[in-house]
Amino acid sequence: MCTIYFFFLAPAWCGALGRDGACRNNSKGVMMGCHLRQHKWQKLQGVVVKKRWRELRRELFPNATTALTTMGGMLALLSGAAAALQPIFGGGW
Ligand SMILES: [Zn+2]
Repeated sequence: MCTIYFFFLAPAWCGALGRDGACRNNSKGVMMGCHLRQHKWQKLQGVVVKKRWRELRRELFPNATTALTTMGGMLALLSGAAAALQPIFGGGW
Protein backbone atom coordinates (compact mmCIF):
# COMPACT_ATOMS: atom_id res chain seq x y z
CA MET A 1 0.00 0.00 0.00
CA CYS A 2 2.83 2.32 0.87
CA THR A 3 4.46 1.54 -2.46
CA ILE A 4 1.31 2.33 -4.41
CA TYR A 5 1.00 5.62 -2.57
CA PHE A 6 4.62 6.42 -3.28
CA PHE A 7 4.39 5.59 -6.99
CA PHE A 8 1.03 7.10 -7.90
CA LEU A 9 -0.24 9.46 -5.22
CA ALA A 10 2.54 11.02 -3.20
CA PRO A 11 3.34 14.60 -4.13
CA ALA A 12 6.61 14.62 -6.03
CA TRP A 13 8.55 16.40 -8.71
CA CYS A 14 8.04 15.32 -12.28
CA GLY A 15 11.77 14.74 -12.72
CA ALA A 16 11.55 14.10 -16.46
CA LEU A 17 14.73 15.09 -18.21
CA GLY A 18 14.46 17.97 -20.62
CA ARG A 19 16.85 20.40 -22.20
CA ASP A 20 17.10 22.30 -18.90
CA GLY A 21 17.69 19.20 -16.82
CA ALA A 22 15.17 17.52 -14.57
CA CYS A 23 11.65 18.97 -14.72
CA ARG A 24 10.62 20.60 -11.46
CA ASN A 25 6.88 20.65 -12.07
CA ASN A 26 4.73 19.07 -9.43
CA SER A 27 3.41 15.62 -10.16
CA LYS A 28 1.41 13.01 -8.38
CA GLY A 29 3.65 10.12 -7.47
CA VAL A 30 7.09 9.34 -8.82
CA MET A 31 5.75 7.20 -11.68
CA MET A 32 3.55 9.93 -13.12
CA GLY A 33 4.90 12.94 -14.95
CA CYS A 34 3.58 16.49 -14.71
CA HIS A 35 0.90 17.99 -16.94
CA LEU A 36 3.20 17.79 -19.98
CA ARG A 37 2.23 14.70 -21.92
CA GLN A 38 5.76 14.18 -23.17
CA HIS A 39 7.00 13.90 -19.62
CA LYS A 40 4.38 11.30 -18.78
CA TRP A 41 5.55 9.25 -21.73
CA GLN A 42 9.15 9.68 -20.76
CA LYS A 43 8.45 8.38 -17.29
CA LEU A 44 6.35 5.52 -18.59
CA GLN A 45 9.13 4.51 -20.92
CA GLY A 46 11.50 4.43 -17.99
CA VAL A 47 13.99 6.82 -19.52
CA VAL A 48 14.80 8.25 -16.11
CA VAL A 49 15.36 4.83 -14.64
CA LYS A 50 17.52 3.76 -17.56
CA LYS A 51 19.68 6.83 -17.15
CA ARG A 52 20.11 6.09 -13.45
CA TRP A 53 21.20 2.56 -14.31
CA ARG A 54 23.71 3.89 -16.80
CA GLU A 55 25.13 6.25 -14.19
CA LEU A 56 25.29 3.46 -11.63
CA ARG A 57 27.06 1.20 -14.09
CA ARG A 58 29.51 3.95 -14.92
CA GLU A 59 30.27 4.40 -11.23
CA LEU A 60 30.80 0.68 -10.74
CA PHE A 61 32.57 0.01 -14.03
CA PRO A 62 34.27 3.18 -15.29
CA ASN A 63 36.45 1.16 -17.65
CA ALA A 64 37.34 -2.39 -18.55
CA THR A 65 40.16 -2.71 -16.02
CA THR A 66 38.03 -1.57 -13.12
CA ALA A 67 35.23 -3.81 -14.31
CA LEU A 68 37.56 -6.82 -14.22
CA THR A 69 38.88 -5.81 -10.80
CA THR A 70 35.36 -5.38 -9.48
CA MET A 71 34.30 -8.73 -10.92
CA GLY A 72 37.40 -10.38 -9.49
CA GLY A 73 36.71 -8.86 -6.10
CA MET A 74 33.12 -10.03 -6.21
CA LEU A 75 34.18 -13.53 -7.21
CA ALA A 76 36.71 -13.60 -4.37
CA LEU A 77 34.03 -12.44 -1.98
CA LEU A 78 31.62 -15.07 -3.27
CA SER A 79 34.09 -17.93 -3.06
CA GLY A 80 35.08 -16.73 0.40
CA ALA A 81 31.46 -16.68 1.46
CA ALA A 82 30.92 -20.12 -0.09
CA ALA A 83 33.93 -21.49 1.78
CA ALA A 84 32.63 -19.96 4.99
CA LEU A 85 29.16 -21.38 4.44
CA GLN A 86 30.26 -24.84 3.35
CA PRO A 87 30.57 -26.32 6.87
CA ILE A 88 27.08 -25.08 7.64
CA PHE A 89 25.57 -26.82 4.65
CA GLY A 90 27.56 -30.00 5.21
CA GLY A 91 29.99 -29.49 2.35
CA GLY A 92 27.76 -31.43 0.00
CA TRP A 93 28.80 -29.27 -2.89
ZN1 LIG B 1 7.53 17.54 -16.32
